Amino acid sequence: MNQSQRALQIWPILINAAHNRQVLNYQSVGDLIGMPPIALTQPLGLIMNYCAGHQLPPLTLLVVGKETGRPGPGLTTVGDPDQDRENVFSYNWYGLKPVEEADLVGKTTTSYQKRQITDSLLDFEKQIDPDTLIPTLVPEAEEFVINNPYAFAMAISLDRGTKAEIIWTIPYYIYKQLGHLDPYEIDLLSLDELAKIISLLPKKPRYKTDAPRTIKELTSNIISDYEGEASKIWTKKSASEVNNFFQSIFGVGPGIANMAVLLIEKAYNIKFSDLDRKSMDIKPDVHTMRVLYRLGAAEEISEDAAVNAARKLNPDFPGEIDGPLWTIGREWCFAQNPECSNCPMGGVCRKINV
Ligand code: SF4
Repeated sequence: MNQSQRALQIWPILINAAHNRQVLNYQSVGDLIGMPPIALTQPLGLIMNYCAGHQLPPLTLLVVGKETGRPGPGLTTVGDPDQDRENVFSYNWYGLKPVEEADLVGKTTTSYQKRQITDSLLDFEKQIDPDTLIPTLVPEAEEFVINNPYAFAMAISLDRGTKAEIIWTIPYYIYKQLGHLDPYEIDLLSLDELAKIISLLPKKPRYKTDAPRTIKELTSNIISDYEGEASKIWTKKSASEVNNFFQSIFGVGPGIANMAVLLIEKAYNIKFSDLDRKSMDIKPDVHTMRVLYRLGAAEEISEDAAVNAARKLNPDFPGEIDGPLWTIGREWCFAQNPECSNCPMGGVCRKINV
């Protein structure tokens, strides 16, 4: 049985409770339909969204935790709980047209649902450890790339169309192969020599022929502009200076340069005061596109649809939800068999085509 069918099972239980001025607990509702209480979050979320989208009192308010006496977090639309409960009790639920499964799934994402999606993404964003945004194939590479600004800048500059784990490990592989990652030494290498080094790496960037030139230009610019100290790319610099630096490197476009600025803020705990956050878009990839579509925020799985959806969800700073979307896509929202029951978006996601 899917989540909307479960919600359809719960609906009559709740309106009966409302009619009898009863409050239920998760355990008793779960027992009635044969589900563990923890699994009620998603079907209750569908009912909550349905009520909010149809200007009905928040029916799910009647299901509370045994110990807390309160609804689960994220499952209420409560202003004044006592008044809202009274509104639920006094509403003529049996006077409504019978609810159908399609009603609960909803054909469009309401503005209320979108607000909830945004709030949940931003809540989740606060919990993300910056290290999870820098995945690597070997644990030593993670520490290396965080602690070595040149390695960090190199990974960012090479990031196009390659799995994140590979990209963030490549500077470490180069370091292992050369025995150093010294920009002055690397600057002395020809493009052919760099190409040879890349060809010998255990994992390679997708655009192998472009990568030597990207590394060469990055390295030369760090030496000429910043005396070989890559941290000076961002230390005491404005966001536009950082952005311009990265865009001056061969192969780095505006999307990567934007991502670089956001990642530097997160990884090095810097706040760029000049950052025009409204104009910072997400950098769509397979994860962010899929998650936005399944959430019901993007109309299709495409880069344009994802960018537009993020702009609508969080217009003051679209790029702010890039990290949470990407992490959700990697951790739970797999292309096959997504783990909705563990996903932090479980209570608010429309699960389109899941
Ligand atoms: S895992 Fe499930 S709940 Fe989470 S975003 Fe994907 S479809 Fe939605």
